[in-house]
Amino acid sequence: MDVIPAIKEILLGHPKKIVITMHTNPDADALGSSLGLAAFLKKKHHHVSVIAPTDYPDFLDWLPGVSEVIVYQKSPSNRELSLKLIAQADLIFCVDFAMLNRINQLEQPVRDAKAIKIVIDHHLDKENFAEIMLWDPQAAASAELIYNLIESLGEANYIDKAIAESLYVGIITDTVSFKTPNTTAHVHRVVAKLIEFNVDIPKINKLVYENNSINKLKFLSFALSKRLTVLPNCKTAYITIKAPDAKKFNLNIGDTEGLVNYALSIKGIRLAALFKEKQDGIHISLRSVGDFHVNTLAKEYFEGGGHKNAAGGKSNLSLEETIAKFEELVKAKQSILT
Ligand code: 5GP
Ligand code: MN
Repeated sequence: MDVIPAIKEILLGHPKKIVITMHTNPDADALGSSLGLAAFLKKKHHHVSVIAPTDYPDFLDWLPGVSEVIVYQKSPSNRELSLKLIAQADLIFCVDFAMLNRINQLEQPVRDAKAIKIVIDHHLDKENFAEIMLWDPQAAASAELIYNLIESLGEANYIDKAIAESLYVGIITDTVSFKTPNTTAHVHRVVAKLIEFNVDIPKINKLVYENNSINKLKFLSFALSKRLTVLPNCKTAYITIKAPDAKKFNLNIGDTEGLVNYALSIKGIRLAALFKEKQDGIHISLRSVGDFHVNTLAKEYFEGGGHKNAAGGKSNLSLEETIAKFEELVKAKQSILT
């Protein structure tokens, strides 16, 4: 059965108990898409809960409906509630991920749930756990797919300013403000239609991009002057954040968002990485320009994945060992990069 008629049929009839969940460390696309979809489904009188495995960055705390998001990791009562909602759900939408290991401790509960599972995602790696897959790795953002879904259901009349703003923020951030290669004419048409619902473009861009704490700017200055390494022969640059750095600058979730792009912005650089030393290991962000597939690098060597030009992963080695491993890999791939 085609995806759209299948979703249409599932949503018909009596109101459904719906859970929407997203990947860990949710970004603006994961959270915006989930909230946009939730608002749409609520307007259609379904009972909707949005569950984030881990907390979202502060710069997204203005998103319509965000206060109702249940952050699983935050408290025992949230964990209990999340598990109850997942077990009782008729439908579970998996937004902005297609591999269940992307939701950490929620993996098994979602896998075991009796609910019909619907994936809406644009990452390259997918797992066949869902009954319905609205999956398109060519899409610029999951928010684009949510818009397509609502329109294909013939229900664009349900879109309002709150839904439009939630989807808009997913698209601007995942396309790095309309700059990535997947920013098609279709993406611009979707955004044009969203703007017709009075999306407040200056307000949202201010909240997302010009909402820095002084601390964050000082940290940026420190990271660029003290923690940036350039490997010109490999057209690679990377930034490392040591655990004491994060402490010293009192970093919050989201404060390192976009940092890797500074490394990528250096003239001639084709591969950039960010290594963050955390309690549970080293978190890695990878970015590239052109045909170097960072998702493959992340998947093969750092237990991760993502998109061709933006991916992430982790390492259980020490920071120094992880960097040595990365440098070795990059040197081995020098011919592809240069
Ligand atoms: P970021 O570097 O901004 O955390 O992530 C870049 C992209 O890679 C995002 O699309 C994100 O969802 C994906 N990503 C980040 N970490 C992981 C990971 O550990 N596994 C997989 N499969 N994807 C990841
Ligand atoms: Mn996304």
